Amino acid sequence: MEQIKLSNEVSISRLVHGVWRMTEWNMQPKDTVQLVEKCLELGIDTFDHADIYGDYQCEEMFGKAMELAPELNDKIKIVTKCGIQLVSQKRPKNYIKHYDTSFEHIVWSAENSLKMLKRDNVDVLLIHRPDPYINPEEVAKAFNKLKEDGKVKAFGVSNFLPAQFKALQAHLDFPLVTNQIEVSVAAHQEFENGNIDFCQENGLRPMAWSPLAGGAIFTAQTHRFITLKNVLHRISDHMGVPIDQVMYAWLLQHPIGLIPVVGSGKIERIKSAVAALDVKLSRQQWFDIWVASRGEGVA
Ligand code: NAP
Repeated sequence: MEQIKLSNEVSISRLVHGVWRMTEWNMQPKDTVQLVEKCLELGIDTFDHADIYGDYQCEEMFGKAMELAPELNDKIKIVTKCGIQLVSQKRPKNYIKHYDTSFEHIVWSAENSLKMLKRDNVDVLLIHRPDPYINPEEVAKAFNKLKEDGKVKAFGVSNFLPAQFKALQAHLDFPLVTNQIEVSVAAHQEFENGNIDFCQENGLRPMAWSPLAGGAIFTAQTHRFITLKNVLHRISDHMGVPIDQVMYAWLLQHPIGLIPVVGSGKIERIKSAVAALDVKLSRQQWFDIWVASRGEGVA
């Protein structure tokens, strides 16, 4: 599978595997090892984490699994995130969900992620959400320290708008390498808020979270989702591929080079995502989905 170069030090696979839902998968550590091995066989070598996933448990679960097969640690790349503070038994001092992008929190959170993941470094650290109380100079100081200490190779953001991206970038000594944003056949806001154009202007490769709309299309309840599902089925029947592949193909072939973060723990579904790399929609099929998603034709 193609590798995407994010910086001189970091490349990630064209498809990334995301472990947000890991606590739902009822996996023993040996099952997680098997999942990582299968992903590697398929060419997916990058795993997307966040400190908060599974109420602060997923990094630790993943790290415990990797202890069973430490040789895998050298073969995989890790993206993780920081900056959200949950109300959780794991964080007893928090009485309200909030964001924290202070120097102290970023450094502490990244170092804690390494402890949980049982690694010396991660490839990419993202600020999880734009923080209305952000001090970009503090973020820069934290990023510099983590880089100098060899704990993080590259930095990025998630869910940032172009102005927020630029405001942070202006204070950094090195380029942010990605913006992880929500894009799917059901989530087209990033085409309309300037983010896709901003990435195109700056040669940035965005990562696409919830690439299958979090599974909501399969269980479509609303008029909009039912209409979208019908269009996807019509195209998938015509092409002879399942609708999840049509949804991935819609993202993968966009000229911006979106990097989907695959959210299933089931190997057959991960294989289907990989198969989508070979599915090519026509321009009109792409627009058929666009129109169904937006509920109106183009002008
Ligand atoms: P997704 O692929 O859009 O949704 C995954 C869900 O769809 C799972 O419940 C999965 O069920 C279901 N699904 C997949 N294929 C299916 C099929 N063929 N039929 C029926 N159901 C199917 O991805 P996601 O999990 O929402 O998000 C992916 C990753 O993005 C996360 O793991 C995380 O790393 C990242 N993320 C980032 C942010 C952020 O703010 N940066 C936010 C959300 C997510 P099964 O598990 O049963 O297959």
